[in-house]
Amino acid sequence: MTEYDIAVIPGDGIGPEVVEAAQAVLAECETRYGLTLNYTTYDFSADLYRRTGRKITAADMDEIGMRDAVLFGAMGLPDVRGPEGLELGAQVEMRAHYGLFSSLRPVRLFPGVDGPLKAEKVDMLVIRETSEGMFAGLADEHEPSDESASDRMTITRATSEKLFDVAFSQARARRKRGTPGHVTLLHKSNALRSNVLLEKVFDEVAARNADIGSAKYYIDAGSMYMVTDPGRYDVIVSENIFGDIVSEVAAGLVGGLGVAPSADVSLTHGVFQPSHGSAPDIAGQGIANPTAMILSAAMMLEWLGERRGDDLATRIAHAIQGAVESTLAIGPRARDLGGSAGTREVTDAVISALPPQVDSGRREHVAAAGR
Ligand code: NAD
Ligand code: MN
Repeated sequence: MTEYDIAVIPGDGIGPEVVEAAQAVLAECETRYGLTLNYTTYDFSADLYRRTGRKITAADMDEIGMRDAVLFGAMGLPDVRGPEGLELGAQVEMRAHYGLFSSLRPVRLFPGVDGPLKAEKVDMLVIRETSEGMFAGLADEHEPSDESASDRMTITRATSEKLFDVAFSQARARRKRGTPGHVTLLHKSNALRSNVLLEKVFDEVAARNADIGSAKYYIDAGSMYMVTDPGRYDVIVSENIFGDIVSEVAAGLVGGLGVAPSADVSLTHGVFQPSHGSAPDIAGQGIANPTAMILSAAMMLEWLGERRGDDLATRIAHAIQGAVESTLAIGPRARDLGGSAGTREVTDAVISALPPQVDSGRREHVAAAGR
């Protein structure tokens, strides 16, 4: 019996719609596979702030952080702003509060989805560092000037070691479902001192993880390979700005936001959310593609499975991924992918595609779906 306490923050716009879809899929997994999820739902949203002035506090995040994981829809409405003129975004506050230094952004070209490349296989996890690197100087003192301006790239050993540990353990977790078990560092140590340290720490961590293959490319050549030869990548890890850019190139390779999940994690905390926002333009119509959110929920179970050594959680995650994959292959297809199905129809199809059981012998469900 696998049991977890999950904090749920549905948020704004299509957030609650896709969270409901993911919870419907998870509820079916509870019925079928001996999983128990105890939810606590938190109503933090830009809409709540507009109505009441209430926003997430450090005390809220301390409480939320006691749960095993956070399932997050999307938060923010363009016309709801705090006193400094910035949008409300609990996801940004949680990143700082929990020290979520790595953003995991997996992309896969699913059969049935048209990407812009000839390549028929794209299956990679981009890990972007999110606490230092090129954004390290955000709070630095600076004299405003029209003649010169600077930013600062800082790499620390402590964060880099944690980041690379995550990269290698993710490669190990992915390998259980048939990926090669390989980590590539994208960097610029030929020209940036900070990246000399980044590369040095990478080499040390790679040596401690000899069961996982590794490679290093300069970020410029490595970016070209993403487009010309994406099959060479399994896990990609990079610093803050390189990872930001490369993760969005990666999403563009596989059909866009509706199928792109993400997870912001530290060694102790995880916030699982789709890559997209609240999509106010389609909210309330029941037409949002729930795929990215459902895949984010699967990432949550995969992360819990890896951290807790819980093989059942890992297998349920893979079952959800397989069900999403066969739904993308045979339809019904959501509108952003050229179909006409609504949120509920896609969700029901994913639920029907779940296997009756997830025992260790059920890997062929995933393999059969074309991985
Ligand atoms: P968005 O991702 O919400 O929408 C961009 C476009 O993609 C829209 O046309 C939308 O209809 C479409 N789209 C997004 N998700 C979709 C889905 N699941 N199915 C079908 N179509 C989908 O980005 P935006 O419009 O720039 O931002 C809207 C709001 O969301 C803003 O307030 C922004 O700050 C917020 N936002 C929040 C997060 C987050 O919570 N992590 C991330 C990005 C943006
Ligand atoms: Mn970005």
